Amino acid sequence: GDTTASEAVTILGATGSIGRQTLDVLARHPQRYRVIGLTAGHRWRELAEQCLTWRPRFAALADPAAAEALRNHLREAGSDTEVLAGHEGVARVAALDEAHTVVAAIVGAAGVRPTLAAVEAGKKILLANKETLVVTGALFMDAVRRHGATLLPVDSEHNAIFQCLPREGVGPGVRRLLLTASGGPFLGWDRTRLEAVTPEQAVRHPNWDMGPKISVDSATLMNKGLEFIEACWLFDVPPARIDVVIHPQSVVHSMVEYLDGSVLAQMGTPDMRTPIACALSWPERLESGAPSLDFRTLAGLDFRAPDDAAFPCLGLARQAMEAGGAATAVLNAANEEAVAAFLDRRLGFNGIPAVVQDTLAGLPAPDCADVDAVMNVDSEARVLARRLIKEWAC
Ligand code: NAD
Ligand code: MG
Repeated sequence: GDTTASEAVTILGATGSIGRQTLDVLARHPQRYRVIGLTAGHRWRELAEQCLTWRPRFAALADPAAAEALRNHLREAGSDTEVLAGHEGVARVAALDEAHTVVAAIVGAAGVRPTLAAVEAGKKILLANKETLVVTGALFMDAVRRHGATLLPVDSEHNAIFQCLPREGVGPGVRRLLLTASGGPFLGWDRTRLEAVTPEQAVRHPNWDMGPKISVDSATLMNKGLEFIEACWLFDVPPARIDVVIHPQSVVHSMVEYLDGSVLAQMGTPDMRTPIACALSWPERLESGAPSLDFRTLAGLDFRAPDDAAFPCLGLARQAMEAGGAATAVLNAANEEAVAAFLDRRLGFNGIPAVVQDTLAGLPAPDCADVDAVMNVDSEARVLARRLIKEWAC
């Protein structure tokens, strides 16, 4: 068909939860969107299947051996998708001339370089990869402005706030932003009970179907901590003007309170296709596949304060944001290492906040002039966190 008028979309992290849900939305609008680039980490069979369905011009895998396997497989299947390899390859696909829109859905700080490559190419960025903003903060927002990129939040809370704000963003009329949190699978548990939590329990989220890392983050409330930092940068508001409220049903996705007392909330079923479609088509609206919210069967909407004693991660994130400099990069690196160790059964559930806290306490977090400096801090924090994890395990 005629694809010249359609919008060319690249997905970074195509094989993940957000990547697959993005393709689900795109599939509903074949006239409007085409896929130009797909990238992933190492799962080449899944990427191969996506390439055969979507016929992107380019694909890339961060793992060079997996990229080779993908290349061979696609050649044999008669596909004309060009396969690039390694972190360079992923970054090149992130910055394709032909792309209008880049969905940043890699998990973790691994997303920093490719997402920045898309920013530097001036793309419309649909940001799911919150860790990139947590790690690079001011540098990322500066790059967005300098390169004329457009930044649209996909994280459901930030997308909700984006929808509740006026077009100009946070102005003097806004009193505060209210981030809602489901509370995760262990809402109401105390520290003693949390001690025995297994990876299987932690990745089973009551409301959302997500990748393993963000699922653990939701269980520790670090996800809300990362989102708190994300909101400070995205909406240019000081930490004191953002509050977190627990809302177990995940129907109100977040809120904006104005000076006159008005509170605007964005609601919907917990389905990431809604914020994905919203960001894709903004300021228009698109059918996303998400079911309607049925108010007649909603049992109720509950709100309460978070339990900071059982879930220290949220407070640690707030502390890191207030400390400034590269403290949020340290927080993120320590958390990524701790979550990986927990999923590997090398660290208990309560060890996650402990490792993050001790890593923050053990490392200076200077202001960083560029991304290379931040990534050095990230590496140092990982070295310290790994040592602390070993100590915790003994
Ligand atoms: P996921 O684990 O399901 O998918 C991660 C994707 O990143 C995969 O495609 C993987 O191949 C790719 N990847 C991993 N390491 C890589 C590397 N080194 N180089 C290149 N690619 C790499 O994760 P997800 O749940 O889709 O989350 C993705 C991002 O979106 C995270 O930052 C998460 O916090 C954010 N997010 C997710 C959801 C959700 O509902 N899943 C909601 C809000 C925000
Ligand atoms: Mg979220």
